Amino acid sequence: MNCTECGAELQHITITVDPRTAALVFRTNCEHELSADDARAAWRAGVFTGPVPQITGAALIAAERARQVVEEGHTEDTDATLTAGELAWAAWALLDAAGAKHPVEQAPQVWPLARDRWPADKSLLRRYIIAGALIAAEIDRHLAAGETP
Ligand SMILES: [Zn+2]
Repeated sequence: MNCTECGAELQHITITVDPRTAALVFRTNCEHELSADDARAAWRAGVFTGPVPQITGAALIAAERARQVVEEGHTEDTDATLTAGELAWAAWALLDAAGAKHPVEQAPQVWPLARDRWPADKSLLRRYIIAGALIAAEIDRHLAAGETP
């Protein structure tokens, strides 16, 4: 079986969770995305697939954390410079705004990160996911510094 995008032989399909849509993403060994139907057909034809992740809060937070690293470049090194608890405070600010009756479109004064990192147009659930990922990043920063719970 071959990729419909580039013609490469399909050897395996990696299944991940998209933290923005809370849906599964099927990606081929040639890095092309497959529809769920095409991925199912490839699996039936014997193409190896990794485990199918459950779509849970923890999985969405982990996927968002990975997205922040890969797409936005917020790596362990850049997070290590945020030593005043900025990541945890940013999560707090998102949760605080989540309780507002109207969407908080601009970063509040207490927002400790770059103003353009405020997720102004995101849904309540999306803000919870982003806040969870910021907490995970803060935990990672403490672990990287050698701390233990
Ligand atoms: Zn391909």
